[in-house]
Amino acid sequence: MSLASAVKARFHTEFGELPAFIVRAPGRVNLIGEHTDYNDGFVFPMAIDRAAWIALRPRADNRVLAISIDMGDRREFALDDLPRPSTVDWIDYLIGVAWALQGRGHALRGWEGVLSGDVPIGSGLSSSASLELATARAFHAVSGFTWDAAAMALACQSAENQWLGVNCGIMDQMISAAGVQDRALLIDCRSLETYSAPLPPSAAVVILDTNTRRGLVDSAYNQRRAQCEAASRHFGVAALRDVERKTFERRADELEPLMRRRARHVISENKRTLRARAAMDAGDAAALGQLMVESHISLRDDFEVSSPALDAIVDCANAEASCYGARMTGAGFGGCAVALVRAQSAGDFVERVQACYRAATGNEAILYITAASRGTETVYPQASN
Ligand code: ADP
Ligand code: MG
Repeated sequence: MSLASAVKARFHTEFGELPAFIVRAPGRVNLIGEHTDYNDGFVFPMAIDRAAWIALRPRADNRVLAISIDMGDRREFALDDLPRPSTVDWIDYLIGVAWALQGRGHALRGWEGVLSGDVPIGSGLSSSASLELATARAFHAVSGFTWDAAAMALACQSAENQWLGVNCGIMDQMISAAGVQDRALLIDCRSLETYSAPLPPSAAVVILDTNTRRGLVDSAYNQRRAQCEAASRHFGVAALRDVERKTFERRADELEPLMRRRARHVISENKRTLRARAAMDAGDAAALGQLMVESHISLRDDFEVSSPALDAIVDCANAEASCYGARMTGAGFGGCAVALVRAQSAGDFVERVQACYRAATGNEAILYITAASRGTETVYPQASN
């Protein structure tokens, strides 16, 4: 049963009628542009065909009642008395979004509904952003404020940063809000301008989950951020985004070797990400794949955020003749890689990479053949979209 049918059927069981609205918001995978977002740079993600879904109806009072099928849980809160999170629980994402929307002056109405998602939790495909944007869309459906994708993404990011205390850039929320079917979205993380480019028609995107997670991700992430900030201070600019490659090459010796490598990753990755736009516009899967290969090498050697498991799965993928290119994706130290693969060979690719990774590490990978989907939307009724 599809998730749309699942939330609808459960809604009927709980509330004795059909929902007034069904909304969905997707997870994402980043094709290229890694660790560039907090340097005011460029990222190039796509929304995936996995999403959080909410079936709901408005309430006359100012309460929200949410039933999570996946958590087997039912929670309620009042919009005029938002409870601060103690330990972060799934309902806190909904409360945080309500807080952020109210903080931006939106008058919210209450609702009740059923929620379920198929973005795997904690794999780096951003189930949290999908839940936040689905929640924002639910409030939009019952409250009727104007939907602006970038404004909603910023509100959801501030919910995650300030209400939940999780440090993240704008990419996850922006792509979940503004994804385009069959296209990837180049995002300028400084201006939030977007440009959608078609995925090469011959290619499928495969997500390769190493099934490994590392505990040190947060501290390493904060350390990389600090190193980038120090490097940009050295160059006297607001962010590494502003350092031209030529300037960097001329002045690279001024930086000590570690800082030099960190800065070189960010500066070269921004360049690769802009070149990826040209490759996509030209429908050139081979060129895009090559940029992904170079991105991985830079993340592995200069930025040092890969891991043995990520390197193993990327090597397995790149060894396949059907693979245009593969790289780690997300913050790193475990989690997922992403590969661009000849569409007609994708099934075969999945089986062979699974076997290769098992032989190399003794671990089982989880692979998803995915498609670029639309961003956050009201699925029912369609006219309110
Ligand atoms: P991810 O990398 O998937 O975004 P996070 O740790 O940032 O991982 O967010 C995962 C959290 O988001 C879960 O622990 C849960 O609280 C919430 N969440 C995500 N998807 C769902 C869902 N379908 N139902 C309920 N809560 C969810
Ligand atoms: Mg998250």
